[in-house]
Amino acid sequence: MKKHFPEILAPAGSLEKLKVAVLYGANAVYVGGQKFGLRTAADNFTLDELKEGVLFAHQRQAKVYVVLNSFLHDKDLAEIPDFIKFLSEIRVDAVIVSDLGVVKTVASLTNIPIHISTQASTLNVEAAKFWKSVGATRIVLGREVSVKEAGLIKREAQIEVEMFIHGSMCMAYSGNCVISNFTQGRDSNRGGCAHSCRFEYSLDLGLDSMEKKKAYFMSSKDLEGLRILPDFISEEIDSLKIEGRMKSHLYAGTMSKVYSEALSFYQENGHFLSEDLMSWEMELKKVSHRTYTQASLVKPAGPDSIFNERENSSDSEWQMVGKVLEASPKTGIVLEVRNAFNQGDTIEILPFNGKAVSIVANEITDIMMKPLSRTKPSTLIKLPFVDGVERWQLARQKV
Ligand code: SF4
Repeated sequence: MKKHFPEILAPAGSLEKLKVAVLYGANAVYVGGQKFGLRTAADNFTLDELKEGVLFAHQRQAKVYVVLNSFLHDKDLAEIPDFIKFLSEIRVDAVIVSDLGVVKTVASLTNIPIHISTQASTLNVEAAKFWKSVGATRIVLGREVSVKEAGLIKREAQIEVEMFIHGSMCMAYSGNCVISNFTQGRDSNRGGCAHSCRFEYSLDLGLDSMEKKKAYFMSSKDLEGLRILPDFISEEIDSLKIEGRMKSHLYAGTMSKVYSEALSFYQENGHFLSEDLMSWEMELKKVSHRTYTQASLVKPAGPDSIFNERENSSDSEWQMVGKVLEASPKTGIVLEVRNAFNQGDTIEILPFNGKAVSIVANEITDIMMKPLSRTKPSTLIKLPFVDGVERWQLARQKV
């Protein structure tokens, strides 16, 4: 019998990140409009950008899902119909919703498939059946659900299921959290999370003040499910979601590439080779991250899933130094610089498939061919052409 393979669903916090994720292999991306999502601090898409993003993705057989997963008051709900009609006209592939009022509104106005957001904390078959009965076509399950439980929910409720495979975690139950409301006056459930769980807190153990324990005891490690990709496949999970609409271009590209390459390899061979797994894991460590955990994918997350360290103390990090605008033997490599680097530095170009291309930047010039000893952000530079380098690929350097 033919095996069912999941899609790789990548975050796209901007139009440029959408293009990066699709070109690096994501089968689908999720994006936010200017309103109704849970990432008010992300760039988010204008209506024109949404239209362009959908066109770009569809031309490359990728899908676009739009998040409408904020919890809404009546005055907000009144603004939804016009936006839904627009999304229908530009042919988005689904909307991601938490609020029952939004589900009803979308179902009554259009045929756009409705995905129930993880924010709705769906953890069981009966809840999934309920969402199906009101028009949902897919459930993004709560992160507390294991892969085995997810398979059961899919089979029993006869509905598509989506699970997070990678990214930052919430310590709160499926993101139902009000710490930011109380500590920062920002409403997490309406797009205002201030990442208050990442702060250092003091544990008053009833001892004298000298013995109060300071710790990051609410900060979770990051999710990473690469090694259990075969479990997702055998349970026929429909979509594997990568968290991180607020994260960098390099994150969107690296995650899309690693997970889609791993999935394709497994699709062709039915197994993984340990050297490939190690090399994909090395790639996952090259983007900014906390220590990785499988959280509740196999068994319920315990105290070992707490990060308990200051933010940004990850072990190895690379940063994006630029994006390739042109690459041919005639023009050389034209790079739009994002972060400066020096003549003689080693940089890597991340290809859409296969291993990174290492370049020692001995001959850097500006666009008029004047030699440079150091590049500047937001400028165009040229490097000699190297085989395998193509337009839109990202360049990175070890920090
Ligand atoms: S403060 Fe932390 S736990 Fe709460 S919503 Fe934000 S990320 Fe999640």
